[in-house]
Amino acid sequence: MEKIKNFINGELIEPNSKEYFDNFSPVTGEVYSQVPNSDIKDINLAVNAAKKAFQSWSKLSKQERYNHIMHLASVIEEYFEELVKAESIDNGKPEWLARAVDIPRASENFKFFATASLHFNSEINEMDGKAINYTLKQPIGIAGCISPWNLPIYLLTWKIAPAIAAGNTVIAKPSELTPMTAYIFSKICQKAKFPKGVINIVHGYGDKVGHALTSHSEVPIISFTGGTATGKKIASVVAPMFKKLSLELGGKNPNIIFADANFNNAVKMSVKAAFTNQGQICLCGSRLFVHESIYDKFKAAVVKETLNLKIGDPTDDQNSLGAVVSKEHMKKILYCINRAKDEGGEILTGGKQLILKGRLKKGYYIEPTIIDGLTADCKTNHEEIFGPVVSMIPFKSEEEVIKMSNSTSYGLSASLFTENLSRAHRISAALDSGAIWVNTWMLRDLRIPFGGMKNSGIGREGGFKSLDFFTETKNVCVKI
Ligand code: NDP
Repeated sequence: MEKIKNFINGELIEPNSKEYFDNFSPVTGEVYSQVPNSDIKDINLAVNAAKKAFQSWSKLSKQERYNHIMHLASVIEEYFEELVKAESIDNGKPEWLARAVDIPRASENFKFFATASLHFNSEINEMDGKAINYTLKQPIGIAGCISPWNLPIYLLTWKIAPAIAAGNTVIAKPSELTPMTAYIFSKICQKAKFPKGVINIVHGYGDKVGHALTSHSEVPIISFTGGTATGKKIASVVAPMFKKLSLELGGKNPNIIFADANFNNAVKMSVKAAFTNQGQICLCGSRLFVHESIYDKFKAAVVKETLNLKIGDPTDDQNSLGAVVSKEHMKKILYCINRAKDEGGEILTGGKQLILKGRLKKGYYIEPTIIDGLTADCKTNHEEIFGPVVSMIPFKSEEEVIKMSNSTSYGLSASLFTENLSRAHRISAALDSGAIWVNTWMLRDLRIPFGGMKNSGIGREGGFKSLDFFTETKNVCVKI
């Protein structure tokens, strides 16, 4: 059975403890690899390597860093199919999805931020002939990058790429549930002969090795994507240490359908927003608000479209959905579905675990589930479920749907569907969401500011915002 290794100072090494824990594939429910149970000693080793590497990496010219990073991106592409298969086995997602979204984005993240770093300007402010101010944007040191299991290599590289493009070195901690593509990425760094110690990857439990990383006094930047409860814990550790902190957290995103929407597009997008990646994307639209005048027709169409989705073997491209990430997560989702019933919800379709045959019989599969009949203020409509579950709610007016949409503690993203341009602008301005889509969902441009309001996070990533985050801004005032 494959033993995953930590990647420190360019070497693949065992954890200091020599201890490992099991990595289950959600596709089969079987253990298929072993994850290092790392601790503070492994983080200390990585800190030493990253500190040393920072001395040379931060002093390279932007062009030299660009050359190294672009080469790394090209080697990722050589490993494309291996990464696709690993992501699917580790996470449960269909291979076609990893092929279309996750793996292309891993190399794209590096290309994008390498290029962006060449165009990253500083400001000049001239003071009426008396002085000139200019800003320096300098690399800071070691960045701790912690990522979740839902888009493992996609989000890991979304953090590593801007951090190193800005001249920092990195210690990354992937989710304990999905470490495999990060391990393959370590091998890719070796194959690319990427400068040693610039990228280090340490595996293990979040509350142990993750905590060792966030609380380390020589790691001044923490970029975290994950759940709101974990974000809160990390903030309590990091804030008193005055580290730079970026938090990309959970969501309970509204998807709003007005009566004048393009009906077929709104149906298609609502189903996609609810169930892509088994509903395990922070941006998934899990609350579906539909204008009362088209509610019954829309409900029938969404159910019909959902019944066309096939769930099963992630290697079969005919299947729309694969497995959810873990047994514990499956239980949590099923618990939430039962709670929705207790709250008075009617299950329009789905609602159950799906037991498949053959090698998949112990896998973690859940039917895509649509719930009707709940009020906007119940637990089902307020707490993040992070599974293939969507709740439908009718609305009468713009005011009412804005109020219901904004009623949760989250504020990550929202989608709205209307052919009325003025309404689209009006509603967009009124929603408490960091990202708003009109007549679409999850159309991503890497240049835009990305992040959440309220309990969905602090700060914005994307484009120059990421490079700003991973640099220290200094102003120099020169008297004329
Ligand atoms: P978690 O918060 O459980 O874990 C995220 C990462 O943090 C994992 O690597 C985890 O390690 C680590 N971690 C856990 N505890 C600590 C700690 N005390 N100190 C440092 N690190 C720690 O999230 P999930 O992995 O369950 O991911 C799902 C969540 O992520 C959802 O809420 C989702 O909405 C959110 N998310 C947000 C996105 C956004 O852009 N806003 C994008 C994608 C997901 P381990 O796995 O070992 O516990």
